[in-house]
Formats: sequence, structure tokens, C-alpha cells
Amino acid sequence: MTASSSTVGSNGRVRHGEFFLECQRLPGGDHSRPLPEGFSERPEQPPDFPEMERKLSVKDGCAMQFDGKDNYHQVSEWNGKTAPREEDKEHAKRVAAAAEAARAAAEEAARAAAEEDARAAAEKAAAEKAAAEAVQALVVRLETGGLGVSRVDWKLETMHGKNVCDPLSNMPKRTLNEAIGRGDMINVGTHEVVLYLARHRPTPEVAKLVKDGWWTVGQIFYAYYDHRQFTALNVPKAVGFSNSHECHLFAGLGKDVEAARLHGPLAVRGNVCACPHCTAGNFDDCEMAALLGPVRRVKVPREQNATASLRQMESLQQWAASLKKGQLASTQVAPDEACIEGLYWLVLLLAMPYTLEKDTIFNTDSFEKGDLVVKVNVSSNLTARSHSDCQPAL
Ligand SMILES: [Zn+2]
Repeated sequence: MTASSSTVGSNGRVRHGEFFLECQRLPGGDHSRPLPEGFSERPEQPPDFPEMERKLSVKDGCAMQFDGKDNYHQVSEWNGKTAPREEDKEHAKRVAAAAEAARAAAEEAARAAAEEDARAAAEKAAAEKAAAEAVQALVVRLETGGLGVSRVDWKLETMHGKNVCDPLSNMPKRTLNEAIGRGDMINVGTHEVVLYLARHRPTPEVAKLVKDGWWTVGQIFYAYYDHRQFTALNVPKAVGFSNSHECHLFAGLGKDVEAARLHGPLAVRGNVCACPHCTAGNFDDCEMAALLGPVRRVKVPREQNATASLRQMESLQQWAASLKKGQLASTQVAPDEACIEGLYWLVLLLAMPYTLEKDTIFNTDSFEKGDLVVKVNVSSNLTARSHSDCQPAL
């Protein structure tokens, strides 16, 4: 989960990655790949929550969800990571202009409407006016230095696979199992899998309208992130603090972006609270303070020479560094050769992976500066080939 999950709501634009919703690609983020077949570009439109200031993440206490020291800076740095940029402001101005035009057109239609249509036309004009005013307020907020979205994490007790998110996480696996049952061919690689899911399961199986339940899903956002986003720099591991294992509230409400990046100040407490003051982020005025105790302010600096335990989704460089010469691995076949070669090759690593310092062409394949590459044997006749597929094959 990244800052885009907040900026889509607050600014209407993706920050990182390539996002899909209901077979449309969302504005912003990474559009370096051509629009995939079966998708259209989603028109720019006002954000759903232009006044959004804070997000609440409710997580299972299991390490895979909360992630402890790996998570502290995600909380404390969220505000800086979601702070609006120039392109967000330009986007807001464009949607404000469109909203203003819609308002003017609706008012004109209301004036011209015949008597029997007047009421409906007036209601539409009022709705367009409210929408235009909301977007204009967003423009003013961004122009006057509106900050990003702060983040509060609630770490629940560990529920061993019985939390609300657990059945949701079954959906991708079930969809892929169905695909295999049908004999659909899915090229390996994360991007291909994301596209397959976004194309074949664009909406929930059962619409939210016909279901009960607070956590019922209404829309499914699919996102693909380039592996270069997942670095120890972007997702740093922090130094812990005393009694952290007893804490369930982690709030990063500071506005100092640089302090957050370095020290990750957090407000923490043993238990969470939903009183009006805590909901508003004013933990010092908590109505339950006598029972729950005060919040503590702690600093969680980045680990010096952080050597986070191997987590390939966090840091491709770390994962690459763990590879060894002579190791057997799998790598995906280029899609246009899959019908001949199959979906993946087993390869023998001939050396350690390394980062390209300039754009490079090797055997008619081009690689960009910054790509991690490794020389491998892909066949029994020991023909050396190079690929940038350091990402693990799924
Ligand atoms: Zn409270």
C-alpha cells in the first residue's frame, strides 16, 4: 500500500504506480506503458474526498500486516508523501474549470426549462453548483499550501486469518484458480497478473448494494508498482522504542516533513480510542484518558546501515544481493515468445546481479540505466544471455 491509496481520494490522482478501476486506468502515476487492451483512460474528475486530512488503517496484529519497525516510517512520513505537487494543483484547476462549465450549463438549462421540467432542472443546477464549489475549495486548499494526508494505524490483536481483510485476499487466488480451470494463459510477471485480475474481475462478485455489512467492498482498485519503488530508502526500517509490543495506536500527525523522514515521530498508546477528540487526532484531550492512559511521543529514527531482513517486495536490491553465482532460478519469457518457449525458463546464474550505469543494448534487447541485470544460462548449450528479470517469477 502506498501514498496513492490516499491521494486518489484527496486529489483524484495517483502518486505512484499504475492504477486500474473498473477497466479504466486512473490519472497520474506511471503511464509509461501503453494503455492495455480492454482498458480506457479514466477522465480527470474531482476527487471523492477533497477535504480528506487523515486516514485510519486498521490492521491485524500479525507481523505480515503490521510489520512493526518497517511500518513506523510509513505512518510518520505519510503526510509528506501525500503532500500535493504542482501537477496535482494543475489537475485540480482543470477539474474546477470543468465543474464550473457544468454548473453554468446546468443553470442555463434551468432557466430555459419548460415549466414541467423546471424542478428537475433546478435540482441539477443546485447539484452542479455544490460540486463546483467543492472543487474550487480544493483548488484554494492546494494553492494555499494544503498539506497531505496524515495517517493513524490501529494494530488489532492477531486474529490468525479471521480478520475482515482475509477473505478479501482470497479473491486474487480464486480468480487465478478459475483462470487455470478454464485454461486461460496468463503470462508470468506481476504486471500481467494485475492486468488479468483488473480485466476479469473489475467489480466485486456481489454488488455492495445487495449486501449488508460495514466492510462490504464497493469497488476494487488494482495497482501495479515498479519494483524500483520498493527500496530500503522508500520503506526504511526504524529503530524501535521501549514497550512497543504493548502499543496498538500509532499516529503520525506531525507536519514537519523532514523531521518525519529522519526521526519518524509518532504518538503511541497501549490502546486505541474512538472518542470525538481521538477521532479528530487530539489525543491529549481523550475522554478515556483515565482508563487508557496518555499517549506517548516517541522517535523512531531510521536504522543506521539498515540491513532489513530479506523481504523481496521491500527491496529488490537486497533480494538481488542474496543471489549467488551458480544458483538456479526462474525467469519469465517475453510475451511474444511465450507461444514458442513456454511461460518461463529455468536459468543458471553466472554471476551476481549488478545495476546498469547507462542505457545498454545486449543481443538486440535494450536495458535502461538503473536496471538490475544478471547474466544467466538459459539452455544446456551454455549460451550466455542477459535479462533484467531479477523479479521472481510468480
Ligand atoms: Zn479518546
